Amino acid sequence: MRQPLVAGNWKMNGSRASVAELLAGLKAGIGRVKAAEVAVCAPAIYIPDTQKQLEGTPIKWGGQDVSVHASGAYTGEIAGPMLTDFGCHFAIIGHSERRAYHGETDATVAQKFEAARAAGLVPILCVGETLDEREQGITEQVVARQLDAVIAHCGIEMVGQGVIAYEPVWAIGTGKTASPEQAQEVHAFIRGRLAASSPVVADSVRVLYGGSMNPKNAAELMAQADIDGGLIGGASLKADDFLAVCAAANR
Ligand code: PEP
Repeated sequence: MRQPLVAGNWKMNGSRASVAELLAGLKAGIGRVKAAEVAVCAPAIYIPDTQKQLEGTPIKWGGQDVSVHASGAYTGEIAGPMLTDFGCHFAIIGHSERRAYHGETDATVAQKFEAARAAGLVPILCVGETLDEREQGITEQVVARQLDAVIAHCGIEMVGQGVIAYEPVWAIGTGKTASPEQAQEVHAFIRGRLAASSPVVADSVRVLYGGSMNPKNAAELMAQADIDGGLIGGASLKADDFLAVCAAANR
């Protein structure tokens, strides 16, 4: 039985004041979330504040990226051990915004997955096609390529220690959600791809959906057989909305 996971991706949003307010709201309302494991992935500079507020609560926290290096002369980078130093449990890896705007290739993403695991983090590996790729009918090809790069570099057992997030790029921040059927189809494909290397990993690994998930559509998406929760951008910035998405995993 896979425990649902709902993780917030705050991206580059917030201030010390708004983070404090958001976290206070999450702490006050987390009791209504019965089934899901809940996490927030904060901008790196707000991770110490996040740790202070969330320590001792059931809510976990994480980073939005991790360097391929553990330390050294890499100006501006944040290493995996630095994240764990501040109590991070998760790290988002290979988000489409990093692939698109920071030149992250499948090979870089695979190295980052490995670096996150080496630091003891649970990587949340993002995969997903652009609108153009969907229209060309190559969604499965793209997702397979992104997944296979990590399996080849890290090995299927290590992939099994992480979480996969299927995030169709055309649904991220656009208000256009994949239908439950569209999402389930790709989630089943991802599980099948993992099963080709290890049926055990395929059965146990959590595959989240991400892309304009909100309190209105979350329950229907999470009711699909292969959708084990969500990676939430916009709707994670308001405590009530995020908690409602988290509670949608209650059964
Ligand atoms: C994301 O950035 O991972 C995401 C899913 O964003 P949104 O929920 O805003 O589409």
